[in-house]
Amino acid sequence: MGKVAVGAAVVCAATAGRWARAAAILKELEEKCATPIGKLRHVADAMTVEMHAGLASEGGSKLKMLISYVDNLPTGDEKGLFYALDLGGTNFRCLRVQLGGKEGRVVKQEAEEVSIPPHLMVGSSHELFDFIASALAKFVASEGDDYQLSVGRQRELGFTFSFPVKQTSICSGTLIKWTKGFSIDGTVGEDVVAELTKAMERQGLDMRVAALVNDTIGTLAGGRYNDNDVVIAVILGTGTNAAYVERAQAIPKWHGLLPKSGEMVINMEWGNFRSSHLPMTEYDHTLDVESLNPGEQIFEKLISGMYLGDIVRRVLWRLAEEASFFGDNVPSKLQVPFTLRTPDMSAMHHDSSSDLRVVANKLRDVFGITNTSLKMRKTIVDICDIVAKRGARLAAAGVVGILKKQGRDTVAGKQRTVVAMDGGLFEHYTIFSKCLESTLSEMLGDEVSSHVIITHANDGSGIGAALLAASHSQYLGIDES
Ligand code: ADP
Ligand code: MG
Repeated sequence: MGKVAVGAAVVCAATAGRWARAAAILKELEEKCATPIGKLRHVADAMTVEMHAGLASEGGSKLKMLISYVDNLPTGDEKGLFYALDLGGTNFRCLRVQLGGKEGRVVKQEAEEVSIPPHLMVGSSHELFDFIASALAKFVASEGDDYQLSVGRQRELGFTFSFPVKQTSICSGTLIKWTKGFSIDGTVGEDVVAELTKAMERQGLDMRVAALVNDTIGTLAGGRYNDNDVVIAVILGTGTNAAYVERAQAIPKWHGLLPKSGEMVINMEWGNFRSSHLPMTEYDHTLDVESLNPGEQIFEKLISGMYLGDIVRRVLWRLAEEASFFGDNVPSKLQVPFTLRTPDMSAMHHDSSSDLRVVANKLRDVFGITNTSLKMRKTIVDICDIVAKRGARLAAAGVVGILKKQGRDTVAGKQRTVVAMDGGLFEHYTIFSKCLESTLSEMLGDEVSSHVIITHANDGSGIGAALLAASHSQYLGIDES
């Protein structure tokens, strides 16, 4: 062999070695992430068991199973002008809606989104609530003549506040902790409705908070308004959570009066679920250890939009380190947490071009990686597929766990069951949502799954809060005329 040929043979052998190593890493990932139906059944069963434990006693489970004080969901009879305020992340939204009862339904609605200046997310409680109340006051001032408040009535508001709250009534609750980048002195332990009410008074805004809810409860209420058979709501966005309708008598830790409806909506806080049956990899363990809340929100870290992209990044990093996947040097941006966001992962996963040019462009834009081969790009799509489908299938198993708790997982009742879903991940990551739906059918079987329907409750949390303000209005029972 000549020198050139020997050189080429060495390069070939080295390349083959790298691919063999990459294939081994991929195979291991696939095995560790596997979610065969038997495993999913274990996860669903564990979810049901934890639900029982969380309902039995305070602190009885990783699942908080918070009592929402919502014992009546919208019926469609709601009438009048109501407002909602949705505070959950970097934006907050004001909403007003004119409800026309069974006939009129949603006569008219308007919303306005306001971004929260970053300095207010780490400032004082006073400043944050003043800012919110002032934006709300401006929004109320823009109310047109086509919105009608019954004579002599005070305006009422549903407040969607998606941070952990210990609810003390339908319209009061104390903040347990700030999350999602908020860190404000002097709000933890305070009643957030009292804080908002004081700020509204300072603005000269005459408004009563009639309902305090989180986004899952809002989505359940919004979903129920459109479909009487909605009994579960799931949020798949930056985080993940679920709420469902429980029999009040099945809540041993509830010592209050039994509600007339006999029902109570439970905010599961299912993101904190964990079980030895969850398929976990080394990537998940390091992600958790390096996170802001190690040991917490394990289910959420396998499923939700905040984390999926970062799991993929961790796999790519290992491929770069151990299989020289991107050449001799490890691209430095692969080492930076959260550089690969889930929307970018989703864009790569959905790439339908024959040369996978979306993948190539994302690798270039996100990591500064160029000159990838088609084979490499295909491998990256495979990784996205493994990580996304594991999350989607686990979310489906969680839903089956709730259906079991409700006794709706068998053919016995044949009642129609609707699950309202919302959140950016569910809405935009099509492969994820489709996989969730098909896994649900796979687990339930044809007959049961023909009675279980998933709907997209678009912006349920906004309108849901306004509807709950209506169904918990101080004027209930007072004649409309
Ligand atoms: P939040 O959960 O903060 O209330 P959303 O429900 O709008 O907000 O969800 C936003 C999250 O949805 C993002 O953090 C992201 O993870 C995910 N997401 C948004 N767009 C996409 C997309 N195109 N593909 C996949 N995930 C997306
Ligand atoms: Mg949201």
